[in-house]
Amino acid sequence: MHLGCIADDFTGATDLANNLVRTGWPTVLCLGLPQDGEAPDLPDGTQAVVIALKSRTIPADAAVAESLAAWRWLRAVGAQQCYFKVCSTFDSTDRGNIGPVADALSQELDAPIAVVCPAFPGGGRTVFRGHLFVGDQLLSDSGMKDHPLTPMTDSNLVRVLQRQSRHRIGLIDYLTIAKGVSAIRGRLENLKSEQVRMAIADATCDADLEVLGAASQGLSLLVAGSGLALGIRPPGNLPPGNPAGARPGFVPQVKGPAVLLSGSCSSASLGQVRHYLGQARNTGDRALRVDPLELGRSSEARARFFAEVDTLLDAMQRVGSVQAARSPRMLVYATMPPEELRGVQQVLGRERASALVEEVMASVARRGLQRGIRRWVVAGGETSGAVAQALQVRLLRIGSQIDPGVPWTASGQGLALALKSGNFGGEDFFSRSLDMLDAAMPAGGDEGAA
Ligand code: ADP
Repeated sequence: MHLGCIADDFTGATDLANNLVRTGWPTVLCLGLPQDGEAPDLPDGTQAVVIALKSRTIPADAAVAESLAAWRWLRAVGAQQCYFKVCSTFDSTDRGNIGPVADALSQELDAPIAVVCPAFPGGGRTVFRGHLFVGDQLLSDSGMKDHPLTPMTDSNLVRVLQRQSRHRIGLIDYLTIAKGVSAIRGRLENLKSEQVRMAIADATCDADLEVLGAASQGLSLLVAGSGLALGIRPPGNLPPGNPAGARPGFVPQVKGPAVLLSGSCSSASLGQVRHYLGQARNTGDRALRVDPLELGRSSEARARFFAEVDTLLDAMQRVGSVQAARSPRMLVYATMPPEELRGVQQVLGRERASALVEEVMASVARRGLQRGIRRWVVAGGETSGAVAQALQVRLLRIGSQIDPGVPWTASGQGLALALKSGNFGGEDFFSRSLDMLDAAMPAGGDEGAA
């Protein structure tokens, strides 16, 4: 084991594990920190372990405590280098949690300097002169300015991280990156002598990630999006894959109806929900809207909503038991445009509204699981955390990529899960992901997760 990764949300964890598997790291993905006393049971050949936390928006001291516990567990099973996975849009507030967690890990690891690289050019996230771009837009002009929990209104990451950290923050700019590995190492040495403990790195293409990855080899702490994983290589020449079993590229062979849960209000998710609803008019796919104001009003309203969920789940199960080429599908969505979201948050408060929506999604997941639903598509990082916990998923194997940053995954208990970060995926992501599962089923039958 070499690389110990701590992801601050669940979709970030699958995104990172996906990139590690694709670059040749035999990788194990754990959802949540293995429980106290749980023997570390890593399959032979494991070189990277990713622990998914749900620590992006919890209080900073709790995020620090959980991240340190995760690192201590990883170190105990052999990790030598720590990869703190953050969002490629640097989702955080002035209170944290990227700065406080990075500060604590840096102290724990006694890391003189850490590279901070959120860029993921393949997913449209680039950093230039310390400024983060989402596609052609500055971060602060992108849909991230309206995020329900971590609105990003400053694109200058040196400034953003400086507000969160106790240490001096520096920059490795694109001119240094263009000069290659030794120039980057020289820059790191200079920054260290100026008491800088973390350096934002420019990166505008995959080649930049390669040189940054090579230059970061001896560093004990990396703070990065999933992109940097494309630039770092496992020790030795190992065959890529998931030590827990399947090779990369498998599609879970799991049949039956599918539930899609969208608790993301990103522009990508808005487009995906719109596309699904448009298609549903012809396909008969089901959809149910979560109205937080209505559900927050009374327990009767919640009871009515869940009665409708149960009816729809039962109806889907009946259709699902008849062999069909196209699986029955049902979308439950809280996704709404920014102006509507602001209205909800004004009435319920930001935290209460989010918690309510996450609890609704978790409850739908529990109801679906009880009825034997085994195909799950979830949109939203926080939402995925809530849903994966409700489904009691602990370990995932990484399968085929649906879109950049989003793989199909298979759980030990035979579930197929696609956990999509809000910002990711094409417009037809929902239907295309499930069409992939339908197409992978052998004619006439099942089964068992691949
Ligand atoms: P993303 O990946 O787009 O950041 P997340 O799931 O991480 O999505 O975050 C979205 C947050 O917004 C969640 O906590 C979710 O519960 C909350 N949320 C979603 N829809 C609504 C809504 N209609 N009103 C209020 N909060 C919402």
